[in-house]
Amino acid sequence: RQLLAAHLHAIDAEAFLVTALPNVRYLTGFTGSNAVLLLTPSRAILFTDPRYTLQSSQETTCTVRISKGPLLKAVASAISRHQLRSIAFERQQIPYHAYEFLHDKLPPRARFVPTDLYIESLRMVKSPAEIDLIRRAVLTNSQAFDAALRQFKQGMAEAELAAEIDFQMRRLGAESPSFDTIVASGSRAALPHAHPTSNPIQPNQLLLIDMGATQQGYASDMTRTLFLGRSSRLWKQRYQAVLEAQLAAIGSIRHGVHAHSVDAAARNVLATHKLDSAFTHSTGHGLGLEIHEPPRIGKKEKRRLLAGMVVTVEPGIYLEGEGGIRIEDTVLVTEKGCEILTPTTKKLTQI
Ligand code: ZN
Ligand code: ZN
Repeated sequence: RQLLAAHLHAIDAEAFLVTALPNVRYLTGFTGSNAVLLLTPSRAILFTDPRYTLQSSQETTCTVRISKGPLLKAVASAISRHQLRSIAFERQQIPYHAYEFLHDKLPPRARFVPTDLYIESLRMVKSPAEIDLIRRAVLTNSQAFDAALRQFKQGMAEAELAAEIDFQMRRLGAESPSFDTIVASGSRAALPHAHPTSNPIQPNQLLLIDMGATQQGYASDMTRTLFLGRSSRLWKQRYQAVLEAQLAAIGSIRHGVHAHSVDAAARNVLATHKLDSAFTHSTGHGLGLEIHEPPRIGKKEKRRLLAGMVVTVEPGIYLEGEGGIRIEDTVLVTEKGCEILTPTTKKLTQI
């Protein structure tokens, strides 16, 4: 909050109106589902509703305004009361009707200052405390993966295995999955974001699992592709190609590197195996309070990676009608390179 308040003059604003809940949580510690933060250099006012009277007093050191009616009404009167004349807001994070409402109620001569992912940019470099929380979430994720696979039986449905994974994550301390768990077998592994079906998982095919555990608010993200029973030589070669690409991308990560060159490292390896056209998404993304947050590791991403950022590295190949392979770790960028936080093995595994 101090850092943001100190930056206000640079964006020509007297106050910052924060409407994105992950940003509200980041700046206040408040975890409720309905809140807005109004920040000025001298005060931080959190607006929420009566369901959260006790919780907000426990979680945050901000001034709390409990509002029985719409929060924005209370926000508008605070803007008038404090005679704020320029208020920064999150243009990607406010519904149109909310913007209209506030705009109509602005005092004369006051104005809104649009900002783009401003607080998200502050969130990119994690504090040591945040890194510890992500480590914890990553560990829970890997432990749940192992525990769920121990329960795996031939003929289990994709949806049943996904439910087992979710159960194990919660049993091990996660408050929720970070996203809908992906379990895709056989040719369905060609869908990068497949929804688990009630189809029984058949022997002698691929099994792709993409899962994340959110613990104390922080996400993790991991994909492993396993072979059930026997696998063909061709798929083993393809697996090695994706692994080689993933390791090349990880090997290129260090403080100051351009995100697009990490993406290129993975893509170039797949090109040598003539598999680059089957790699249809970007190489990775930041994570933290949200499962997808800046920076993106994509072809055109000009941003540099900085020590303290936590990103995924997840090249994959998707072949329609045949199947797909993705290998994904959560990685911490350091001064000299990076640290792979995910402990789960990437050696070709047959179960
Ligand atoms: Zn994932
Ligand atoms: Zn991911």
